[in-house]
Amino acid sequence: MFRANINKTRTRLVVSVVAFLLIVALGIFSVSWQTSQGLNNDAQERLGMAVQQVDMMLGNAKKAAKAVEPFLGKPCSQDVVLELRRQIAVVPNVRTINLATERGKNIYCTALFGPRNGVVDNNEYVNNQLLLMSGNEITPDHPLIAFRDLHGENSILIGVDGYYLHNILNLLSTHAQMTLQIGDQWMDAQGKVHKGIYSRHGEKIELSSEHYPYQVVTFIQHTSHWRYVLDYSPISLFLFPLLGLFVGFMTFMALARIGTPLAMMKAGMANHEFIPYVQPVVDGTQHQLTGCEVLMRWQHPQMGLIPPYQFIPLAEESGLIVDMTRQLMAQTRDIYAPLAQQLPDNFHFGFNICACHFKDLSLVEDCKDFLEAFKAKPINLVLELTERELIVPSDITDSLFKALRRLGVLIALDDFGTGHSSLTYLQKFHIDFLKIDQSFIGRIGTDALSGHIVDNVIDLAKRLDMVIVAEGIETQTQIDYLTPYHLDYLQGYFFGKPMPPEEFNRQWLSPKH
Ligand code: C2E
Ligand code: CA
Ligand code: CA
Repeated sequence: MFRANINKTRTRLVVSVVAFLLIVALGIFSVSWQTSQGLNNDAQERLGMAVQQVDMMLGNAKKAAKAVEPFLGKPCSQDVVLELRRQIAVVPNVRTINLATERGKNIYCTALFGPRNGVVDNNEYVNNQLLLMSGNEITPDHPLIAFRDLHGENSILIGVDGYYLHNILNLLSTHAQMTLQIGDQWMDAQGKVHKGIYSRHGEKIELSSEHYPYQVVTFIQHTSHWRYVLDYSPISLFLFPLLGLFVGFMTFMALARIGTPLAMMKAGMANHEFIPYVQPVVDGTQHQLTGCEVLMRWQHPQMGLIPPYQFIPLAEESGLIVDMTRQLMAQTRDIYAPLAQQLPDNFHFGFNICACHFKDLSLVEDCKDFLEAFKAKPINLVLELTERELIVPSDITDSLFKALRRLGVLIALDDFGTGHSSLTYLQKFHIDFLKIDQSFIGRIGTDALSGHIVDNVIDLAKRLDMVIVAEGIETQTQIDYLTPYHLDYLQGYFFGKPMPPEEFNRQWLSPKH
């Protein structure tokens, strides 16, 4: 399960694609947000400029009105008309100046035609001041703003040229059309005057003049976002997918490195996550503690305690098992050397050693280190070799076994009965212990045929005249069955499961043992 879960190329691919999509999504979000902010600020700035320009034009109208104010209410003489015309000539943006009574309804003096008596239909000035007109009688298709300066019943009417107005709107309508709203009429950037309130899809942004009753209005549409991006930062459209590809690729590569079980095991070794668990071995008659088997566990910080079948095969395959076993022996030595006096006499430590380790002469050094630590109270060191994986004899294994022998290291054949070891094999490698595989012990008491198989394996072991250990003892029935065979050592959950050294010490090394 552990091996299957990690380093699946598909998982790596999925994670990398997610990383890519995240970066692209982040990019879209940030470009979109920035663009929307940019468009907003841009629109605000343009509206500000438009209002400034329109205010200036209306300011001119006001100036012209001020200049002709002294003539208001006076007869429309030649001098008055000339003064009105002079103002048109000198004040920018002003197209017409009229003097009127009845609050502007009745025009009695104009700059163009002199005295007259004209009645104006449309007299609904916004805030009594501004009126947007699509044209007047002289230029019917030419929009203008009428500015009214009221003085009681009399008023000065100034026509401000729409040409300048729509030019301003046009110039400032880069990304979205800008319009001028006066009351319930609005002028577009082409200079056309419409009835109603200007409205479009999108976000409405408007700015009112502080001095005159009008607003400049625009709408930001979502489609203009991407046009804006294309105009101002086309590079960001490519940058984020590229960055996403890069991050995705790096994630894919990084996962290959950190996700492999081998890399995880190496990291685990560096962090000393492989720890010893200890299982008691007792003598066959009194069931007193005589030794223990040291079994490896992986104390993973995230996955918890991992049993050996999930990582030993890969550790053996990769050769990492050699260093792991060395670490395990060193840890066990450091825990038990200070407690040596509490151990029973002739206590043995059994370590599982894989076949590949028997090609490595450093094993002799490791065993020497282990034994030397117990000089004050000698112990037996047992190396367990599984019968499932027989060692191929060679010069190296030969000298290795000899060196181990000289050191006094004992060899046990683990899982006896499951492999094909011959008598010559057992003699060649000077096997001291046979550990009858737990599968045979497990058959005890099941059926007659199984009973025969168990008897045969025990008989065979007995005839080989070696020290025998029965593994996997879980019940009293199994003990009763084995008693007549007078086996040397017993091991199994019945006596104690593999446990952390501290627990083992508490349970088995108290003064009564
Ligand atoms: P093994 O060497 O045959 O170890 C005995 C296994 O049987 C242990 O499993 C132990 O917990 C289990 N066992 C002991 N008594 C009983 C019992 O009464 N009933 C049952 N059902 N099981 C019992 P564990 O600790 O899971 O180890 C499994 C295997 O992993 C070991 O089998 C050994 O081949 C390997 N292993 C463990 N530690 C190491 C190590 O440090 N190096 C190497 N190369 N292999 C190791
Ligand atoms: Ca073993
Ligand atoms: Ca075994």
